[in-house]
Amino acid sequence: MKRTLLLMSYHLHPLYLSTFQFNPVEDDLVFIDSSDQWTHYQFHKKRLVYHLSAMKHAYIAYQNQGFRVQWLQTNTIQDALATFPDIYVYEPTNRYEKRWFDEKKTTFLEDPLFLVQASSWNEWLPVHKPWKLDPIYRKLRQNLNILMDGDEPIGKQYSFDADNRKPYHHASIIEPIWFAPDTVTQEVLHDVNKRFASHPGTSESFHYPVTRNDALKALDYFVLHRLATFGDVQDMMDQHDAWLSHSLLSGVINLGLLSPMEVIVAAQEAYHKGWATIGATEGFIRQILGWREYVRGVYLVTGESYLSLNKLNHHRPLPTFYYDAKTSMHCLSTTIQETIDHGYNHHIQRLMLLSNYANLAAISPQDINRWFNEMYIDSSEWIVAANVIGMGLFADGGKMSTKPYISSGAYLHKMSNYCDSCSYDVSLKTGPKACPFNSLYWHFIDQHDDVLKNNPRMGMMLKVWNKMDTNVKDAIITTAKNHLMYE
Ligand code: SF4
Repeated sequence: MKRTLLLMSYHLHPLYLSTFQFNPVEDDLVFIDSSDQWTHYQFHKKRLVYHLSAMKHAYIAYQNQGFRVQWLQTNTIQDALATFPDIYVYEPTNRYEKRWFDEKKTTFLEDPLFLVQASSWNEWLPVHKPWKLDPIYRKLRQNLNILMDGDEPIGKQYSFDADNRKPYHHASIIEPIWFAPDTVTQEVLHDVNKRFASHPGTSESFHYPVTRNDALKALDYFVLHRLATFGDVQDMMDQHDAWLSHSLLSGVINLGLLSPMEVIVAAQEAYHKGWATIGATEGFIRQILGWREYVRGVYLVTGESYLSLNKLNHHRPLPTFYYDAKTSMHCLSTTIQETIDHGYNHHIQRLMLLSNYANLAAISPQDINRWFNEMYIDSSEWIVAANVIGMGLFADGGKMSTKPYISSGAYLHKMSNYCDSCSYDVSLKTGPKACPFNSLYWHFIDQHDDVLKNNPRMGMMLKVWNKMDTNVKDAIITTAKNHLMYE
């Protein structure tokens, strides 16, 4: 019996066809380029090129193999779906995407690329108990036999996080591998610039992998040349290097060009071949095997209301500099210019600069959540929710993290070289030259003492604030308020 399988722009791995037992003689394959997929969030132009070019390459590759494959371009995905009596699709994790499908005529399939089945998460993350990544990560390491030596973790510990928090230092890093756009990507670039001219970011200098072969090359290159230095620079930031030793594989994993398991296995093999230390390898694998699966679980068990949470009652609108990088805070202007240029920042910039500032400046979690969804080539609502609403902003009141991830300028100075070129002085807390992160940090503590006083990990800072001289406190609060009035 003939079946029609719809592949979304992020269902491009060969496993999707083999799991389906796709029969090229009988079955049909469909790709849909509908505007609503690209405008639900005002996605960065590079993200649009990424998805559309990868999807177009997959379409052409299947066509060349003689498959019965269609490409439909419509305004809405429902316009395209209406032409099929019934359809199979791998179930989208994003709820807004699932709503596009008429459940009566759609057969949803379990996404084979995730390592934990969607239905397991209700048991793994029970609603009324605190959630912790660590036991889940350990269980996955054991079940899948990753970095294990019999029943013991290699290196006798499951996490080498403490080894991977080195402060800013000069590091010798081999550059990432880049891929020049071919004629297909060039056509997509032209199309995106025309159709989505008002979307943020630039499509210029597009050099990401958009085919399975190039994604595999990027993986091989990373584990051979860059994994070794990943751990040492994992938490630092460099104003002259947007990439450091980060893998840049999140985008191709989220597009389904690589499976998480093949990336994990490649990193594990690199360790066994002596190309990288256990610390670097474990830190990298934990991001994929642990964190990526975990944030999907959080999205699945929390439901729609999670996106509206605002425990700290923050309502200031997102400053315009998040879109144009025009701010005199050098750390933020440099980082946001990278966002505009590349559709990419590494995780510590996302957490300790962009989310940290948003939290300290009392910006609406929903505004910054939308921005994170829009601006990154690797974004997807299910990934952003727990990272931003939960970990970044503490808007869920601590379900995802045991304390708000906030810091003053001192931490940013220790972990980066931004402050050397900034017009603000990181050593000052008050006055017009003072680093805004300093006054905003104490302003945050002052504003949220009701939430923080019961938090064992924040109690110490609250005590320091409460003991501070009243005149100093007043000057800090005035400096913070002045900053908030003008930024
Ligand atoms: Fe950022 Fe403050 Fe350093 Fe300037 S001084 S770069 S605002 S942390």
